[in-house]
Amino acid sequence: NSVFAHIARGPEDPILGVTVAYNKDPSPVKLNLGVGAYRTEEGKPLVLNVVRKAEHMLVNDRSRVKEYLPIVGLADFNKLSAKLIFGADSPVIRENRITTVQCLSGTGSLRVGGEFLAKHYHQRTIYIPLPTWGNHPKVFTLAGLSVKTYRYYDPATRGLNFQGLMEDLGSAPSGAIILLHACAHNPTGVDPTPQQWEQIRRLMRSKALMPFFDSAYQGFASGSLDEDAQPVRMFAADGGELLVAQSYAKNMGLYGERVGALSIVCKDADVAGRVESQLKLVIRPMYSNPPIHGASIVAAILKDGNLYNEWTIELKAMADRIISMRKQLFDALHARGTPGDWSHIIKQIGMFTFTGLNSEQVAFMTREYHIYMTSDGRISMAGLSSKTVPHLADAIHAAVT
Ligand code: PLP
Repeated sequence: NSVFAHIARGPEDPILGVTVAYNKDPSPVKLNLGVGAYRTEEGKPLVLNVVRKAEHMLVNDRSRVKEYLPIVGLADFNKLSAKLIFGADSPVIRENRITTVQCLSGTGSLRVGGEFLAKHYHQRTIYIPLPTWGNHPKVFTLAGLSVKTYRYYDPATRGLNFQGLMEDLGSAPSGAIILLHACAHNPTGVDPTPQQWEQIRRLMRSKALMPFFDSAYQGFASGSLDEDAQPVRMFAADGGELLVAQSYAKNMGLYGERVGALSIVCKDADVAGRVESQLKLVIRPMYSNPPIHGASIVAAILKDGNLYNEWTIELKAMADRIISMRKQLFDALHARGTPGDWSHIIKQIGMFTFTGLNSEQVAFMTREYHIYMTSDGRISMAGLSSKTVPHLADAIHAAVT
């Protein structure tokens, strides 16, 4: 008898489980709108041309070896990642009061940041938005933090519950950590306006709340890397401290390469150096050091003016295709006379639309139309194409009438 015989089967991950169910469905019209990965008009995964070029350069460079990276990863990659999120002329970089460490994509950066805070920061409570990416509560709980929520989304308006957000941050204990989606909030597609960000910043700084930005979609929301980084830069500009987790999964299409970075902005260079020494002690027993390939691709692209420009063009094309899918889906529902106000489809931004469909309607669409999505009604706009919009619009129409 196995010593593991008592082990119960664990549940599928609510997001990745959607793909498992999709893969089992033999229907030719099936559509996977669950996972947040970009697809072309033809429904195929996309490797950016600029990534292919960078990989080609790397492969042909015989001087490159496969030695271990340092615990904190590739130095060039870390410097360039900080420049990308904070801006080339950022005072935090000029004053050298930042530490950036390469981590395993966005998730790994959040986890390392969470463990560092649990070990060294005086407040062990982190507030995450309600709702948020399903992995956030698990990552931070296992990192050793205590997770609470703040109000974020208002189902009645399918927009931001700004008053609720301000009240909840206002009553959080001084010093508490606040998880903020830098742009393109997942799953709602609802972001604060620049004016609202400024009010959030002032409130948080007045209460010494610690911002922890999750930047998984820089460039994907608006098509502009600089515009999508504005909230992070606004907080960095006031001289206060903050953390940011960056992912290159979506904006460079490097999903499976697991490439990302954690930056901690400190008051001065001396503190930043000591913080980095402690990050190394978090990382070393966790996975020793990060993988080399993805970070080398990113560094090659970010340090070469031509490759960087090519990247921004390809990134904008992905963002524009998603925006065009919003318009097409909205128009298709309008044309069908589908009851309800669907304007949130074009107002929300980023990879996802929070449709407002409930779990029964979602189950109906999966059963009758072979359309797969998370049960909260979130659909990945990146998984849609002009060809599949009519099928989705038919399904939504049938689900709500
Ligand atoms: N944070 C948010 C809000 C996300 O949506 C995602 C991916 O879906 C991630 C972080 C982490 O992604 P990865 O670990 O692939 O970079």
